[in-house]
Amino acid sequence: MAISSTRAQDAIGCLLCDMPSQQFCNNCQINLCVDCISIHVDTSKSVSHDIVHLKNKTTRLKYHKALKVTSECAKTDSETEKLRDIWHQEVDAIFNKVGSVAQFFKDYKLAALTTEQSKIKKLVQDSIHTVRKTNSC
Ligand SMILES: [Zn+2]
Ligand SMILES: [Zn+2]
Repeated sequence: MAISSTRAQDAIGCLLCDMPSQQFCNNCQINLCVDCISIHVDTSKSVSHDIVHLKNKTTRLKYHKALKVTSECAKTDSETEKLRDIWHQEVDAIFNKVGSVAQFFKDYKLAALTTEQSKIKKLVQDSIHTVRKTNSC
C-alpha cells in the first residue's frame, strides 16, 4: 500500500525496472528502486553516486544545466551584438563613401599613401639586400 501511494505521489518509476522508486541518485538525477541501486552503482563506477531518499532529492544538476544554457544564451547575444556592430560599421562606411565626396578623396589619398609607403618599404628592403650582398662579396 505504501509503495503504490508513493508511486501515485511522484508518478516516477525506477529508471532501470520501472518499479515504484523510493531512492534517488542526486549525481545522476535519476529515480531508483532499492533493488536497482547496486546495479546502478555497479554499472557506472567511474562516477560517484549520491543515493538519497526521494524526499531528500536535490535538482543540483538541472540547476547547473540551466546556468549553462543561460551563459550560452549570453554568449550568443554578445556575438549577435558584435555582428550587428560590424554590420552598422559597414553600412556607415558605405553611406560615408557614397554621401561624401571629400570622404572618398580622403580614402583615395589614404590608399595612394599606403601604396607609396609599401613602395618605399620595398625600396628600403631592396637596398638592405643590396648592401648585404655588397658586404658579403
Ligand atoms: Zn529498479
Ligand atoms: Zn548515480
